[in-house]
Amino acid sequence: MTLALRDPSLLRTQCYVDGAFVGEPADVVRNPATGEELALFPALDGAAAKATVDAAARAFKPWSRRLAKERSAILRNWFDLLIANREDLALILTSEQGKPLAEALGEIDYAASYVEFYAEEAKRIAGETLPSHRADGRIMVLRQPTGVVAAITPWNFPAAMITRKVAPAIAVGCTVVVKPAPETPLTSLAMAELAQRAGMPAGVLNVITGPAAPIGEVFTSHPAIRVVGFTGSTAVGKLLMRQAAGTVKKVALELGGNAPFIVFDDADLDAAVEGAIAAKFRNMGQTCVCANRIYVQRGVAEAFVEKLAAAMGKLKVGNGLEAGITQGPLITGRAVEKVEAHIADALAKGAQLRLGGRRHALGGTFFEPTLLTGVTQAMTVAREETFGPVAPVFVFDTEEEVVAMANDTEFGLAGYFFSRDIGRIFRVAEDLEYGMVGINSGLISTELAPFGGVKESGNSREGSHHGVEEFLEKKYLFVGGL
Ligand code: ADP
Repeated sequence: MTLALRDPSLLRTQCYVDGAFVGEPADVVRNPATGEELALFPALDGAAAKATVDAAARAFKPWSRRLAKERSAILRNWFDLLIANREDLALILTSEQGKPLAEALGEIDYAASYVEFYAEEAKRIAGETLPSHRADGRIMVLRQPTGVVAAITPWNFPAAMITRKVAPAIAVGCTVVVKPAPETPLTSLAMAELAQRAGMPAGVLNVITGPAAPIGEVFTSHPAIRVVGFTGSTAVGKLLMRQAAGTVKKVALELGGNAPFIVFDDADLDAAVEGAIAAKFRNMGQTCVCANRIYVQRGVAEAFVEKLAAAMGKLKVGNGLEAGITQGPLITGRAVEKVEAHIADALAKGAQLRLGGRRHALGGTFFEPTLLTGVTQAMTVAREETFGPVAPVFVFDTEEEVVAMANDTEFGLAGYFFSRDIGRIFRVAEDLEYGMVGINSGLISTELAPFGGVKESGNSREGSHHGVEEFLEKKYLFVGGL
């Protein structure tokens, strides 16, 4: 299948290694909306991964010695090219990932915003001088780039999950090898093409595709790699952390969530419904910050459910390239099976189906937006991330009770609540065991804020000035004999 790209040369189907596109066609990438084959891409093995890390290691010293202003200018060029090509990039993204085109355009802008931010931040990596313990000496602290960074990224944000790691790393002088998800290699390769056009020197950014396990082995054992950045499932994150222990690498993890979305009886209900739709149904519910559990205080529960059902009735399922579609297909058949299992478990344990509940008439991996009520903590939806278009509504009575239920999970990425009581806003915000809390908003992601989780949801922060910390070492210099 050919995509109607303005610039067809953005459809890269080879890996980007040491400044060149390499590799033979091997694995298939399909359009989840149609099942059509989009392209074949390479399956590089462990030896090729090692050679790529070696190339990134060779590129490290010269890149880290470039003036911050020069690294900044190259990143800025990349940002400008990402924006200039946003429509082609979004078309590639929707074709391989399924999200509606408007959301894909939003993701490209969001992904590019990290490149813009860290192009600016590159010039502001300052060290410090500290009071000395000796009159004849001075203490200085340098902040230096750590070395080669490996990045492993998921399919749900094929562009943004890459730039959130790559842009800060490259800005401070690190070089990077990225392994994108096998479902969505084309967006990352198109971005690599634009990085090359932006003047990024060979070896600074590399993108390789292929079997995950052997590439992961190389990333976690190669001595040149100093940081492994991973966004994906908790199980794989734990595996990488164990593997990286052998060479004591930093491991920066962004893992699964189980976001609570709490509506108190003093909330603006219309705003809460709007927030719930955004937090639940963006990307068909396939984001790690998607509302997974909706808790509503008893007094407003029925009114909220009525309004939510009405808003969900306006969602439009279909091929994301068609106008007006708000819900594309799920990524794979396995994803649909998980959604079906969570619904079946809830219904078997006494939940009621208010809307949807089945595969969509369009077939494939399309699924009906689903609303469940009468949901309890005993159901699977309370414990596991559904990662699909299912809104399970739980009813609660007191603030204390809902905070306890919200925190009763091993995850701690994002949480949301709606309230207009200023005292409650601070109490609940401080008591929620989450890395990010959205108050009276269902959308919180921005390059300007630190994104990340606590507990088993992760150990790192991406975005804002904090986002460079993973990629910097502090070096203490003592200068004596003054
Ligand atoms: P999902 O189930 O959503 O695909 P994964 O955690 O399996 O989540 O995938 C996220 C990323 O991790 C993908 O790029 C995938 O290829 C990669 N991955 C999966 N297994 C491994 C592994 N054993 N080692 C390294 N990377 C892996």
